[in-house]
Amino acid sequence: MADYDIKPLITAEEIAAKIDTLAAQINENFKDTEKLIVVGLLRGSFVFIADLARKLTVPVEVDFMVASSYGDSTESSRNVRIIKDLDGQIRGKDVLLVEDIIDTGYTLSEVVRLLNTRDPNRLEICTLLNKPSRRDINIAIDYCGFDIPDEFVVGYGIDYAQNNRNLPYIGTVHFHGE
Ligand code: 5GP
Ligand code: MG
Ligand code: MG
Repeated sequence: MADYDIKPLITAEEIAAKIDTLAAQINENFKDTEKLIVVGLLRGSFVFIADLARKLTVPVEVDFMVASSYGDSTESSRNVRIIKDLDGQIRGKDVLLVEDIIDTGYTLSEVVRLLNTRDPNRLEICTLLNKPSRRDINIAIDYCGFDIPDEFVVGYGIDYAQNNRNLPYIGTVHFHGE
């Protein structure tokens, strides 16, 4: 048996409604784009990107990157490594970087720095969740789903030690004895 409980924080319905709002903003802001390269940061963003991409009406390509972050712990690592790079080129392209959660900001700032060296035409950031109270590195977020408190969350693609990504909602993890 797991030594933790999961308490619902954001329902599947609330997530779906928010994605409609975010997609409407993205569709409007990129309405003149030839092609929007939607870049998902795996693995946490895989459910979000699947739902978001299907609400986009502009021409879209989807690509993925993997950057190391927490491993199997709940502690953020300051040493960000790119484990899988993009398959495609982004020079001169419009890029939307899609993240599950921005916490300290280390992961995303490193990915943004790397992608900017490739001279995209436009690089914007969309995150489902944001923990503003945890930020160490300032990042300009263009589209944000929900600001959440400093609690460890799972579900809707987001894991704890690779578990719970399949939950349709987002919940907070409460370890027994805490
Ligand atoms: P940062 O580099 O901003 O500290 O961390 C970003 C990444 O850490 C997120 O994209 C996510 O993968 C992971 N992360 C941050 N907060 C949480 C959380 O509450 N739960 C889980 N499962 N992962 C988190
Ligand atoms: Mg992530
Ligand atoms: Mg993780």
